[in-house]
Amino acid sequence: MQVLSRLKAKLRWHHLVHGGIFLTAIALFPILGELDLFEAFYDFSRAHEDWELDELAVLVLLLTVALLFSVIYQARHLRRMAREKEAMRQAASAKARHDPMTGVLNRRAFKEIARGVAQALSPSDAPRYIALMDLDKFNPVNSLHGHEIGDATLQEVAERLKLEAQASGTVARLGGDEFAVLLDETANAVQAERAAQRLVHEIAQPFFFGEKAVFIGASVGLVALRYGDDITEVMRRADKAMGVAKAEGRGRFSWYDADQDRQAMDRETIAADLRDAIAHDQVAPWFQPIVEIDANHVSGVEILARWFHPERGSIPPGVFIEIAEDSGQIGTLGLSVLRQACVQAKDWARPLTLSFNVSGVQFKDPNLVPSIRMVLEGTGFPPERLIVEVTESSVIDDFGEARAKLEELKALGVAIALDDFGTGYSSLTALQNLPFDRLKIDRSFVTNIAKRAECQKIVSGIVSLAQGLHLEVTAEGIETVEDLAYVSYLQCQRGQGFLFEKAVPGDQVGELLDGAWQDLPTVPVSLAKVVGT
Ligand code: C2E
Ligand code: CA
Ligand code: CA
Repeated sequence: MQVLSRLKAKLRWHHLVHGGIFLTAIALFPILGELDLFEAFYDFSRAHEDWELDELAVLVLLLTVALLFSVIYQARHLRRMAREKEAMRQAASAKARHDPMTGVLNRRAFKEIARGVAQALSPSDAPRYIALMDLDKFNPVNSLHGHEIGDATLQEVAERLKLEAQASGTVARLGGDEFAVLLDETANAVQAERAAQRLVHEIAQPFFFGEKAVFIGASVGLVALRYGDDITEVMRRADKAMGVAKAEGRGRFSWYDADQDRQAMDRETIAADLRDAIAHDQVAPWFQPIVEIDANHVSGVEILARWFHPERGSIPPGVFIEIAEDSGQIGTLGLSVLRQACVQAKDWARPLTLSFNVSGVQFKDPNLVPSIRMVLEGTGFPPERLIVEVTESSVIDDFGEARAKLEELKALGVAIALDDFGTGYSSLTALQNLPFDRLKIDRSFVTNIAKRAECQKIVSGIVSLAQGLHLEVTAEGIETVEDLAYVSYLQCQRGQGFLFEKAVPGDQVGELLDGAWQDLPTVPVSLAKVVGT
């Protein structure tokens, strides 16, 4: 301690400087090589005899030790900082590469990986395959079961995809309810199809969350990834193919095919022609009879739009209604068809009801109710003879909004039918909460019902449900007397289908009224036993 206090007292800045020089000299010593440490020290002390070198030596020693500690400390600190920095970098990059909700890769990372794969392929290599998946019927999951179940469903979808893709496939959530799988290099085209089928099958299995069961589905677009492909273009193709799978009825996969692009161009010219056709009333209402089954007479007709294109011939409504929706023309199309129908129907011998189809996009149009009111007022057609047909998918997203719109329609004096029942959500909640008057059982359950036991059960179930809710039931797709016999036995009040008549132009409606099917064979007496309900 004494030494230290003396040292402190005598310590001057130049001591430090010299000490520093000395230390540097020591540090340099191994580099300078030839010099002898003690010789250097001896020379230095001789040159500075006025200094008290024993104290200086202690000082140097202490400084060296301090320096050593400081260096060790700094080194450890630096190492820790580097480790923390690396961990942060990894976390940030994981975040930037992964979807936070499901933990699978995000769109950016997926594209990066696929781009890398395309670049690594050589022209002679077999292609790799990408399956792009969009969930079907996912939107209503949130509104029916809440967002927590919605999120949990997406997480479970990601899990199922990971299981299906095993270790080899790369799974990503591209956003919303869209996922993608880059199939591994062992998959050829046939195996890619099988993988796509398995993905569709997996997602179609119910998801269970406690008491709740969620039913969704998936549509998949398949596309090849080849040497030098531009990944943005490949993803666009996959999206196109997925759109085709959706259009073909969902719950399936479709390959990308270059013809689809040509068809898309076609759609643009069709959309332009359609604009012209609507303006000239060339999209015309045809009428299919709706029959009271017990009384065996026509009580109404459904308006079905028909378009005969001058060059392309007849274009089915399944095609042009969608084009009208996509090109923002569905409102004017509906209005034109309804107006023509109301004008014609006013002259018919009997006051038949008119059933008017409103598509999903059309239902959301804020002009829908004012347009219908305008047509009713303009043509003088009695509102109580009009029935508006909506599908479940139009109302399922937001019951509150749907109810408001349906109430507005009802305030006009028209009735509401729920169309194509059984193909969508078959939601009891929708039936209970919305002011429907009628329910139309989709023809997929009706046509050929005699040979399909499960359809008999479904129709029977729908009818009792409808009776409980005081809804009148129409069976669509009655094609044979057997179909008619079954739906009659199952207590559907009304029927519609090719057995009675296909849609006919307005000037032939008069003939329908005579009811050429009046002498159809009667319902077989033994039916009760056959159905066994
Ligand atoms: P939808 O409302 O379900 O109309 C019934 C469809 O089933 C019609 O097809 C009709 O021709 C067909 N159909 C009727 N009976 C039978 C049968 O016994 N067997 C079979 N296999 N089919 C039968 P269409 O005319 O091709 O119309 C297809 C869909 O296009 C309609 O389905 C409807 O959703 C839509 N649509 C038709 N016209 C209009 C319209 O003016 N506006 C809107 N928004 N949609 C329309
Ligand atoms: Ca309909
Ligand atoms: Ca229908």
